[in-house]
Amino acid sequence: MHQNPWCIFFRTKTGHGERGRCLKEEIKLLIELQGFDSEIRRINIRKNELPGARERLDEELQRFEEAFDQRRKRTEDLQKTHRDREKDLKSGLESVKKAKSRLLEVKTNKEYEAMLKEIDTFNQKNSAIEDEILNLLEENENAGGELRTMERELEEVRARHDREVKALDEEIISLDIFLTAMAAKQQGTRKKIDPEILKKYDLIREKRNGQAVVAARKEVCSGCHMNIPPQMYNELQTYEKLYVCPSCNRIIYWENTDNGA
Ligand SMILES: [Zn+2]
Repeated sequence: MHQNPWCIFFRTKTGHGERGRCLKEEIKLLIELQGFDSEIRRINIRKNELPGARERLDEELQRFEEAFDQRRKRTEDLQKTHRDREKDLKSGLESVKKAKSRLLEVKTNKEYEAMLKEIDTFNQKNSAIEDEILNLLEENENAGGELRTMERELEEVRARHDREVKALDEEIISLDIFLTAMAAKQQGTRKKIDPEILKKYDLIREKRNGQAVVAARKEVCSGCHMNIPPQMYNELQTYEKLYVCPSCNRIIYWENTDNGA
C-alpha cells in the first residue's frame, strides 16, 4: 500500500497511530509548526534588515549636515568678501582724498592734469567696488535667508532621524521578545510531532525556502499552483496517508473550501 512515491507517511489505523494520534492531528500540528516557523523566518529576515535601515538613516542625516556645512561655508565666504570690499573702498576713498590734497601742491599744468587723471582712475575703481558691494549686500541677504531656512530643515531632519532610530531600536526589542515566544511555541509543537514526520518536514523546509506544508484546495497545490492528481486529492481527504505535492514536493493537506469558499 506504500507504492505511491508521493506518499511519505502511512498509518495502518486511521484512528490512532503508535503515538496514539491520528494523522489528521499530526497534520494539524504540522500546520501549526509551519506557522511558527514562518513567523520566526519573517522576524529573522526583518531583523537582518534593521542594521541597513539604521545605516541609511544615519547616511541621510550626514548628507544633510554636509550640505548645510557647505552652505554655511559659502555664506561665510561671501561675508568675508563683503568685508574685504568695504576695506578696499575705504582705502580707495583714502587715496582720492590724498590725491586731492596733493593737487594743491603741484607746480605745473602737466602735473596737474596727470593728478586729475589719477583721481579719475581712483574714482572709477571706487565706483566699481561700490557696485560690487551693493551686489554683495543682496547676495548676503539671500544667502543668510537660505541658511536660516536650511537650519530649520536640518533641525527637522535631525528630529525625524532620532524618532526613526528610536522606532528601530524599539522594533528590535519587540522582535526579540516575539522571537523568544515563537521559539518556545515552535519547540513545544516539535516535541508533539512524530519524529519520522518531523525529519521529513525539516528536510523539505530546508529545500523549499522555508515552506514545507501547504494546503491543497480544489485539486490545486497552493504552494506551486499545479494540479494534484484526483485520486491523490481524494485520498488526502481520508487522512490515511501523508502526501507531498508531485510538482513541488511540499507536504500537502486537504483544505475544505466547499463551505463558504
Ligand atoms: Zn505543489
